[in-house]
Amino acid sequence: MNSRGQDHEAAEAPGLYVHVPFCARRCPYCDFYAVSALELLPRYVDGLAAEARLAAPAWPAPFETLYIGGGSPSILSREGLTGLLAALAPLDLSRLKEITLEANPEDVGPEQADLWAETGVTRLSLGVQSLDDRWLGEVLGRNHNPDQTLAAAALLKDRPFTLNFDLIYGLPLQAPADWGRDLTRTLELAPDHISTYSLTAAPGTALARSMEAGLLPPLPPPDQAAELFLLSGQVLAAAGFKRYEVSNFARPGFESRHNLKYWRRTPYLGLGPAAHSFDGRRRWANVSSVRRWASALSSGVRPLAFEEIPDEKAIRLEQVMLGLRLAEGLPEEALAAASRVDEFIASGHLTREAGRLRPTEKGFLVADRLAVELTE
Ligand code: SF4
Repeated sequence: MNSRGQDHEAAEAPGLYVHVPFCARRCPYCDFYAVSALELLPRYVDGLAAEARLAAPAWPAPFETLYIGGGSPSILSREGLTGLLAALAPLDLSRLKEITLEANPEDVGPEQADLWAETGVTRLSLGVQSLDDRWLGEVLGRNHNPDQTLAAAALLKDRPFTLNFDLIYGLPLQAPADWGRDLTRTLELAPDHISTYSLTAAPGTALARSMEAGLLPPLPPPDQAAELFLLSGQVLAAAGFKRYEVSNFARPGFESRHNLKYWRRTPYLGLGPAAHSFDGRRRWANVSSVRRWASALSSGVRPLAFEEIPDEKAIRLEQVMLGLRLAEGLPEEALAAASRVDEFIASGHLTREAGRLRPTEKGFLVADRLAVELTE
C-alpha cells in the first residue's frame, strides 16, 4: 500500500483532542479560551475524568491520535500531565500512533522534555511564532525571546519527538525579506513540520484595540499578505517541505495525522472547556468556561455551548471547503455538478490529475472562496 493509502486508512480511526485552558498570561492577539487561574487545575482534571466517562459509550473505537492543545499544555507539572492522562482512562487509547503536545519555548527544559518522552508524547508543537524580536515582543507580546526558542530547539534536537514549529506572518510592517529571514532561520533549527498562520486582529483582543487606537500600525493589505503566503511556499518547497494543507508544511512522512482528521472529516472527540467535536454527523462545542464546564459535568450533564446536525447544503460546502485546503484535493466526482471547474483550471487555481482536483499555490490562497463559488 502506498503512503497516501496508509494515511487514508489511518484517518478513519477517530482522534482525541484535549483542551488545556491554562496560560501564564494572555498574548494580545489571542482569542482562544484560556485562563491564568492554575488553582482550577484539580477541578479541571476531575472534569476531564467525568467527561471521558460520559463520552466513552458513544466512542468505543480505539483512538488513533491524541492532541493535547491549548492554552499552554507545557505549563503542566508532572502531576498535572499524569493526572490529565489518567483522566482519559475510560477511553480506548491502546492504539495511539501519535501524541502531540503544544509547548511554549520558555517551558522547554530537560525535566519537561524527559516528562513528555516518559508519558508517550511523540510530537511537540512549539509556539515559536517569530524569531525576530521586533515582532515577538511588541506586537505578539509573547513570554519568550528568540534565544529561548534556539535553546529549546537545541535541547529537543536529540530527543525522540517529531517537531512542529508554529510561525506567524503578516505582521505590521513586515516586508517579504523579513518573513524570508524568519523562515530561513527556522529551517536552520531542522523542524519536521512548520505551520504558518497569518496574523489576525480578532475583535475584542488587545491587539485589535491597540491597532484601533493607532498604537500599532495596521495589518498588511491583502496583496502584501498574499505575497508573504506565496513566499512561504517557495522557501519551504526549496527546503524539501510540501504544503500539504493551506497553512501546513511537512517533510515527507511528517504530516500531522491528527490534524488531517479535521480536514478529511474523520470523527474526533474534543474534551475540555471550549473543545469541539464531530462524530461524522453532529458537530458540537463545549462551553468556554472551566467553572461552567466542570459544574455541568459534576451533575452528569454535557457541557454544551452548541450542537448541530448540518443540512445537506452545509455538508457539501464543508466537504469542498475542507478538501480544497488539502494538496490531495477532492475526487473529481465530488465536483461533478460544479459548472466552473474548467474555468478555475484555466485560471490556474486548480489542476486535474489522476481523477482528483487539486488546488495550486494560487488556488490555496483563495481556497475558501473557490469552495463557495464551486458549490453555488
Ligand atoms: S500562549 Fe497561546 S493560547 Fe496562551 S494566550 Fe498565548 S496565544 Fe493564547
